Amino acid sequence: MGSFFKLKHHSIKITIILGILLALLCSFGGAGLYVISALEKKLYQEFALERSQLTEKIAAAMAEPIYFLSPNNAGLVLTLIKQDPSIVSVDIYDSLNDMPFINIDIPERKSGMLFTNLADVSYDDNNIGVVKVVFNNIRQQKEMKNKRELMLKVFGYTFAVNLIIMFPLVHFIIFKPLNRLAYQAKNFQDNELDRAFRWRENSEIGLVGRSFELARTAILSLIAKLRQSNDKLAKAAVTDKLTGLFNRHKADAVLETEINRARRYGNIFSVILIDIDHFKLVNDKFGHQTGDLVLSLFAKLLIQHTRRNDQVARWGGEEFIIVCPETDLRECNQLAEKLRNTVEDADFPIVRKQTASFGVAAFTVPESLAQLISRVDAALYQAKKDGRNRVVQNPFTNTP
Ligand code: GH3
Ligand code: MG
Ligand code: MG
Repeated sequence: MGSFFKLKHHSIKITIILGILLALLCSFGGAGLYVISALEKKLYQEFALERSQLTEKIAAAMAEPIYFLSPNNAGLVLTLIKQDPSIVSVDIYDSLNDMPFINIDIPERKSGMLFTNLADVSYDDNNIGVVKVVFNNIRQQKEMKNKRELMLKVFGYTFAVNLIIMFPLVHFIIFKPLNRLAYQAKNFQDNELDRAFRWRENSEIGLVGRSFELARTAILSLIAKLRQSNDKLAKAAVTDKLTGLFNRHKADAVLETEINRARRYGNIFSVILIDIDHFKLVNDKFGHQTGDLVLSLFAKLLIQHTRRNDQVARWGGEEFIIVCPETDLRECNQLAEKLRNTVEDADFPIVRKQTASFGVAAFTVPESLAQLISRVDAALYQAKKDGRNRVVQNPFTNTP
C-alpha cells in the first residue's frame, strides 16, 4: 500500500479519498443524526405525557385532603411521590383558604433540565387548589446518552467496514494503475523511452497505458529507421559509388584536417596522386563496363596494400589520392613504389595488364592545400612525361 499514501497536491487521489471520506461521513453521520433526533423527540413526547398524567394524578389524590383540610391524608401519596427520582418539588396550594397546603422540595434532585407542570385540584366540580410539580430529565438524559453512544459505535463500525472494503478496491483498481500511468507519462516527458510498460488491466487506465506503450515502440522504431537512413546518407555523402572509396569531397575534408593538425601540432603527412595509364584505351578497346570493373579492382588493390591510417579516395575519373598521416616523403615514396609494383604485377580480368603513374609530395607547413595539390600534380605529370608506370616525388619537397 506504499503508493496509497503518496498523495500530491492537485492529485486525483486526494480528491477521491476526500470524496469517499466526505460521502461516508455525510451519509452515515446524517442518518445517525436523524435517528437520534427522532428517538429524542419520541422520548420527550412520552416524558411530557408521563409528567402531565402524574401531575393530574397528584391533583386528584389531593382533592379530599384539601377539602377536609387534613394534610395527614396526603402523606401516603406524598411518600410515593418522593420515591420517583424525577420529581424535584411539589407545591400544593389551597385555593379555598388561599394558602399553601403542602410544599415538598428535594434540592439534591435539582439537576439536568427542569420541567414544570400545573394541574387544578377539583372537588365536586369546584376548583379548590393547584398542584405544581417540577420534574428533572435525568432519566431521559441518561437514556439519550446511551442511545448516542450506541449510535456512535454503529457509525464507527460501519464507517470502518466501508473504508476497509472500499480503499483496497480503489487502491488496486485506480491508484496503483494511475501511479504507474503517471510514471510512464513522466518517462515519456523526459524522453526516457527505453523502459517498457506491460499493461494487463482492461480498464480505461490500462487502455491509455497500452497506447503509451504502442507510441513508445513506434517512436523507437522510427528513431532506429531514421538513424539507419541518416547513417546511409552520411556514408553516401562521402563515398564514391563505383569504387566504394571516399569521394573527392571527403578527400578534401581529410586533407584540410591533416593540414590543420600539421599546422597546430607539427604532425607530418604526405600524399600520393595516382593516375591509371592509358585508361582511355581500356574503354575504347573493351568498353566502358570493363573500364568500370578495372577501376573498382584498382581501388581494391589500393585499399588492400595501404595501412588502416592511410585514407584512399577517388580523386576523379581514373585518378586516386592517398593521404598518409605521420609519413614523410621517403616512406611515402616507398609506399607508392610498392603500390606501383602491385598494380604492375596484378592480373586484371579482360585487360590483363594495367599500369599506373604516381606523384608523391610531403606537406610543408606554410603551403596551402592548393599548393600541395599542385605540387603532387606536377610530380604525377612528370611521371607521365617520363614514360608512365613510375613514381616521381615532387622535386621541391623536403627543402626547408
Ligand atoms: P594517361 O595515361 O595520360 O592518363 O592516358 P588516359 O587515357 O588514362 O588519360 P585520359 O585523361 O585521356 O583518359 C581518361 C579516361 O578515363 C577518359 C574517361 O573516359 C575514362 N574514365 C573516367 N572516369 C571513368 C569511369 O568512371 N568509368 C570508365 N569506364 N571510364 C572512365
Ligand atoms: Mg587522368
Ligand atoms: Mg590516365
